[in-house]
Amino acid sequence: DIKAFSKELSKHLKNITLSTQHSDLSGYELIDIVEKYNGILIPAHAFTPHKSYYGNCVDRLQYIFKEKFDKIFAIELGLSSDTSLADEISELETRTFLTNSDAHSLPRIAREYNKMLVEDISFKEIVKAIKNEDGRKILANYGLDPKLGKYHRSFCEDCNDSIEITEAATTCPRCGGVNITFGVFDRIELIKDKKESKSPKHRPPYIYQVPLTFIPGVGGKTIDKLLDNFETEMNILHKASQDDIEAVVGEKIAKNIINATTGNAKVHSGGGGVYGKVTI
Ligand SMILES: [Zn+2]
Ligand SMILES: [Zn+2]
Repeated sequence: DIKAFSKELSKHLKNITLSTQHSDLSGYELIDIVEKYNGILIPAHAFTPHKSYYGNCVDRLQYIFKEKFDKIFAIELGLSSDTSLADEISELETRTFLTNSDAHSLPRIAREYNKMLVEDISFKEIVKAIKNEDGRKILANYGLDPKLGKYHRSFCEDCNDSIEITEAATTCPRCGGVNITFGVFDRIELIKDKKESKSPKHRPPYIYQVPLTFIPGVGGKTIDKLLDNFETEMNILHKASQDDIEAVVGEKIAKNIINATTGNAKVHSGGGGVYGKVTI
């Protein structure tokens, strides 16, 4: 039904063939159109500062979707948040979390992904998994350490750096300025209604994954070499041993990769549209 959906939606958009279009529709209205064509509506990167429901519109999705909120089965966490952060908001306890790659270019596919239990690969089965129905479910979320995301922390546009204080940053502690692009962490800190993050029983594990391009010393040539040997990035990040990797790219880079993939690297938080940085 995607063609019919697009046709109807093109009445509300300037150019249906481009991504990220402005529309006069509210989420409350949009969900009816989505349902009419047998789709489901999943708010994307729900916490980012410029274009998202929590980041830019409301403290609760309930305020937007009202009595239709029970038709929102899932939210997409986005690169700058993770399960633990999102589970600080109680209305999300009964929703599924998706970790999608938001890949606007091919190499970025699978920088985040969901492991699902389904009978076959079909839209119907995937919807069941998202709804947590008939035993179908999300088994695990694989995603970035949210600190690596582009909007994890508030960012001072004057100092040109993210602000890594423990509380929500609404002003810059360096220059005192208020020219701030809000961070996902900071936004959740302000709107959360739970004292601490506690995930419901149905919540699958969130497994951190550091894409190779984030790891210091790993450039294009090194990645090509690694892929020649291990075939996929997932094999390198989740299966290869330090010895295996060392045999291909040497001790120093192997150590960096292992530190990054086992959570033993320091990360400078991203913000303001700039990705976080792994510093070994
Ligand atoms: Zn996107
Ligand atoms: Zn500043």
